[in-house]
Amino acid sequence: MSRIVVVGGGWAGCAAAVAARQAGAEVVLLERTDMLLGTGLVGGIMDNNGRLSAAWEGRALGAGALFALIDATVRHKLVEFPGHRHASLYDVNKIEPLVATYLKELGIQIRLTSRAVDVEMSGRRIAAVITSQKEKFEADAFVEATGTAGPAGNCHRFDSGCVMCILRCPTFGPRVSIAAKAGVVEDTGHLYDALSGSCKLRKASLATWVVERLERDGVLLVPIPKFMADEDLLRKKACQQYNLREFASNLVLLDTGSVKLMAPFFPLEKLRSIRGFENAKFEDPYSGGRGNSVRYSLITPRDNYMQVEGLDNLFCAGEKGGLMVGHTEAIITGTLAGHNAVRKALGMPLLKLPRSLACGDFIAFVRDELTSCKEQIGKYTFAGSIYFQRMRELGLYTTDLGRIERRVRKSGLEGVFARPLESRKTS
Ligand SMILES: Cc1cc2nc3c(=O)[nH]c(=O)nc-3n(C[C@H](O)[C@H](O)[C@H](O)COP(=O)(O)OP(=O)(O)OC[C@H]3O[C@@H](n4cnc5c(N)ncnc54)[C@H](O)[C@@H]3O)c2cc1C
Repeated sequence: MSRIVVVGGGWAGCAAAVAARQAGAEVVLLERTDMLLGTGLVGGIMDNNGRLSAAWEGRALGAGALFALIDATVRHKLVEFPGHRHASLYDVNKIEPLVATYLKELGIQIRLTSRAVDVEMSGRRIAAVITSQKEKFEADAFVEATGTAGPAGNCHRFDSGCVMCILRCPTFGPRVSIAAKAGVVEDTGHLYDALSGSCKLRKASLATWVVERLERDGVLLVPIPKFMADEDLLRKKACQQYNLREFASNLVLLDTGSVKLMAPFFPLEKLRSIRGFENAKFEDPYSGGRGNSVRYSLITPRDNYMQVEGLDNLFCAGEKGGLMVGHTEAIITGTLAGHNAVRKALGMPLLKLPRSLACGDFIAFVRDELTSCKEQIGKYTFAGSIYFQRMRELGLYTTDLGRIERRVRKSGLEGVFARPLESRKTS
């Protein structure tokens, strides 16, 4: 049996672990904090705009397990908010234990509070990763899904410094790039409009009418008095799909179990002067009145199999795989990376998703953009901005589930991620 080690337990790492296990490998998942899901612990929005088409492609390709768990905690479906249609909102307070239990039942060994800090090399291959507790994890192939958030040094490049976000670097230690440790030269020269674009308010700190309307409709827009509106904030956002005027002139609130405020931060004194928010308190980040987590500080060179260039047995996924934003994006790229890690371990040809699928086109398009030497690079998501526009132009965006299933069937890849590779090889 091949052995795969996945480093980083956000949505991308969890998806990689599931895919590698479904392909038949023994899988160890290393996560530096005491919970899985990384930034997914404070996310919640799924299925908005092109993410719906991509997630249904994922299901048809055999990567439906995590989407099904998400569906089980969904609080609201078909939510509309500025620039975004048919969103689902999962419960950020319920999802993590469900995912952890599912992964364990699948036979994945989850090692929490295990921060990978170094590698042992054998030529162009990683032989093992070493954790800060000096534990050594050997494998045939590795997936790196360590994200791009932090460490605190990056956050200090903004005025607010560490804002005490869900990643809790001061407690669990900073993110470490495995690719860099293995000698890969990453582009770390820029922060690509890096401030995370939403924060969470504590429900109990808001007026009853705010909570009631939010729980009834899933979404609530509260106009911000003109003198307070700050359009400059929009420009700093990591999530360009929310870079719309409505987000500067309204408090856009979503019910994800917590109250998701679609602004990178909002000065607490100003917030408390708005009716209904007199006692408002931030839940994530704790210093949401001053700033937010900082992401997208690096680009790792990779191909369209999600293999890291320059190494023989390292794959990458999620934010680590390019300037890609979102849970759906992390689950799709994580699935491909985990699946291909097993193919690599078994000496099989790697799988590329075709450009006739939104998922395949997305992975290839992002790589083309990142290697194009453009001065201005954006960020990429099925939910908006450049890539959603492209999806529409190419006819890849659709809410017709039958059409999505047909195009996956036509690609010959229906259910590919759900089938074991090891038995297929020996049969
Ligand atoms: C505040 C906020 C709100 C968001 N809201 C949404 C939303 O509503 N919908 C949406 O689709 N997207 C949302 N996003 C974006 C989305 O969460 C991310 O783009 C996506 O989930 C990234 O997943 P990932 O696995 O690549 O990285 P991460 O979520 O960053 O996970 C990386 C994991 O790796 C771990 N790690 C790092 N280094 C090491 C190491 N050396 N050893 C072991 N473990 C390590 C980290 O602790 C972390 O758990 C949001 C992001 C933020 C910050």
